[in-house]
Amino acid sequence: MARLKFATVWLGGCSGCHMSFLDLDEWLFDLAAQVDFVYSPFVDAKDYPEDVDIVLVEGAIANSEHLDLIQKIRQRSKILVSFGDCAVTGNVTALRNPFGSAEPVLQRCYIEAADIRGQIPQELGIVPPLLDKVVPVHSVVSVDVYLPGCPPDANRIRAALEPLLRGEKPQLEGREFLKFG
Ligand code: SF4
Repeated sequence: MARLKFATVWLGGCSGCHMSFLDLDEWLFDLAAQVDFVYSPFVDAKDYPEDVDIVLVEGAIANSEHLDLIQKIRQRSKILVSFGDCAVTGNVTALRNPFGSAEPVLQRCYIEAADIRGQIPQELGIVPPLLDKVVPVHSVVSVDVYLPGCPPDANRIRAALEPLLRGEKPQLEGREFLKFG
């Protein structure tokens, strides 16, 4: 049987969802026996490849780079999993939205809170501009599976991945698998 192409992506999140993924511990060996890790913060791949079977997307869409990358991910992936509360709702990453736009957030962080010589980081092509509003993944592209949690614990991640590896859609039900936070 052909090995599945598997990816994980880190957008506007704290990486806690990826840390929880590592809590899968020895089951990671089972996963590694069935898939090729083609793109992830855990592997050294620079470009998101074509024909990915399953991708876990951590984090909300918070800057222009996320916006471009999520479109590419959608075009090149069969099953896109919104991985964790930031991806599903915006969650912590979207806490800045009440400021109304990116500018007051940058001013507060890099000018008002600076100890010396405050300066807003900006370098065309290197520092992606923040979007004025942080949005969840499904507001930009279609999502196939929602995996809530901040972070989703390892059991919940496994409960979603096992059916996906068999080519089935996960049936996550009840507080154990669908609770936010
Ligand atoms: Fe971090 Fe929670 Fe967001 Fe995951 S859902 S990226 S753990 S804040």
